Amino acid sequence: MCGIVGYLGTKPAYPILLKGLKRLEYRGYDSSGVAIINNDELEMFKCKGKVVNLEGIVDEKAMTGTIGIGHTRWATHGVPNDVNAHPHMSENSELAIIHNGIIENYGPLKTELIKRGYTFQSDTDTEVLIKLIEEIQKKGKFDLFEAIRFALKEVVGAYAMVVINKKNPDQLIAAKMGSPLVVGIGKDNEFFFASDATPIIEYTKNVVYLEDGEIAIVDRQNGLKIRTIHNKTVKPFIQELEMNLETLELGGYPHFMLKEIYEQPRSVKDSMRGRIQVNTGTVSLGGMRDYLDQMVNAKRIIIVACGTSWHSALLGEYLIEDLARIPVEVEYASEFRYRNPVINEGDVVIAISQSGETADTLAAIKLAKSKGALIYGICNVIGSTIARESHTGSYTHAGPEIGVASTKAFTAQLTALMLMALVLGKEKGTIEAPTFQRLLVGMDALPDKIEKVLKTNDVVYSIAEKFKDVNNMLYLGRGVNFPVALEGALKLKEISYIHAEGYPAAEMKHGPIALIDENMPVIIIATKDASYEKVVSNMQEVKARGGVIIAIVTEGDTQVKSIADHVIEIPITESILVPFLSVIPLQLLSYHIAVMRDCNVDQPRNLAKSVTVE
Ligand code: GLU
Repeated sequence: MCGIVGYLGTKPAYPILLKGLKRLEYRGYDSSGVAIINNDELEMFKCKGKVVNLEGIVDEKAMTGTIGIGHTRWATHGVPNDVNAHPHMSENSELAIIHNGIIENYGPLKTELIKRGYTFQSDTDTEVLIKLIEEIQKKGKFDLFEAIRFALKEVVGAYAMVVINKKNPDQLIAAKMGSPLVVGIGKDNEFFFASDATPIIEYTKNVVYLEDGEIAIVDRQNGLKIRTIHNKTVKPFIQELEMNLETLELGGYPHFMLKEIYEQPRSVKDSMRGRIQVNTGTVSLGGMRDYLDQMVNAKRIIIVACGTSWHSALLGEYLIEDLARIPVEVEYASEFRYRNPVINEGDVVIAISQSGETADTLAAIKLAKSKGALIYGICNVIGSTIARESHTGSYTHAGPEIGVASTKAFTAQLTALMLMALVLGKEKGTIEAPTFQRLLVGMDALPDKIEKVLKTNDVVYSIAEKFKDVNNMLYLGRGVNFPVALEGALKLKEISYIHAEGYPAAEMKHGPIALIDENMPVIIIATKDASYEKVVSNMQEVKARGGVIIAIVTEGDTQVKSIADHVIEIPITESILVPFLSVIPLQLLSYHIAVMRDCNVDQPRNLAKSVTVE
């Protein structure tokens, strides 16, 4: 969370920073700000709310400086207001900092600095960091790099940060520990810093992903130099970005979320590309190749994840246990990390994270790694920290996901997990050859079938119109559709602020049935599979209590149609593949309801994507 961006070059910095902040706004939008060296003055503008507010207070024409930093905040320490917005300045107003992360020991540091006469404007941990740097620089008469290096040695926590110095308009210094930071290298000593590559891609494809403990200095004369916190020189490893600009634009859609929902036929196909061959009956995942024995012989697989990725993980459990007969446990990364989990050598831990930066998941894999587990990362963002920290893994190749509510990343994660289950099952001999082949054919047909589900949009829209004003909704599903029910409920909560709960359909009678009345619509996923009849009975139970039912059914179903108030049909597929299709109408439903309620779909309140705080 928090987006940071820095620029040093020959062009005016402000427009580049502004554009970068808009790209990074998915990471937080509590406040934003910039600091630019303009005609030898360090000028700072910052304010509460979205980046558009910042535009209103900066006079672009007067801002000609070619070095600057910018920040869009997701508050952790101090309420979202103008004062707590970044950048934060040193006491002498010569240094300014932008920071993503948390300085955990900011309390004692602040007390000490106050004793030494420092004053604090904000409630943030970040302001403590810049004043600590200033104090060390002053006391030791160090240059800025050394002061930063020593300050970071005293700091406990996570950071990606950039410091600008009024006294040196030719240099920016950045450092990373825990939070992501990319350096872009343009032509003629033009440099960019950003939390991800999206603000950089327009200007250069050459980037360096900083590692934890590294400090990068960019300088008009000396170019890019990287040293560690222990003052060792690191040779920058320059990579070429694969991203393209169009994927970062709306492309005619009103919101990124809708665009990303509609991208799913392609993103699921991209997740399978080169990994599945129906005619030869083969499935492969590059990341499994060198670890196949270990994975096939694993006594246990643990999947750690958060949010929507945790729902994919639950589905992963169904898929892997069903097809490969390996016991799977699914854990919230945040809980796993703090409860002294039993991890044995030979356990396989799969970490799922769209951004590959989720702090809780990252902490969980570090713990599992230290206890000898094999770590398999499933991430969307190429080069992300979790991808790099894992022993091996698979990218989901869904393309950049910008809407804060995850959609296409979910179905792409399912694709990777399904491919993994197929590889494991085939290798272990736990899938019969005809079933294996049928599943391959089923997977191959998914993009077309998702396309068909998207055609239910009008039906979903009219259902949304009827239910947009409700206060609660219940989502029910059994088997593989239970995690889909959870995901549907989460989508609705996240973007429309309607309270929603997902439940296993059969569990309803153990509690939530007490809530059912005509004001609590119930969404039931009742596709044709082994538990169909049981789900229909659950539906009757809802009906008998005056509940209103919206059902997702397999096309051609007549039985449910006679009970449910509203029906959305999805094409026939293998039972285990139904989630790829049943989740789509639920994504669309929450999208339409949120738009109808005038909610900010792509940037829901209090949330941010890429949760880099624990
Ligand atoms: N801790 C800083 C603040 O609250 C940065 C927050 C973040 O990176 O999410 O301002």
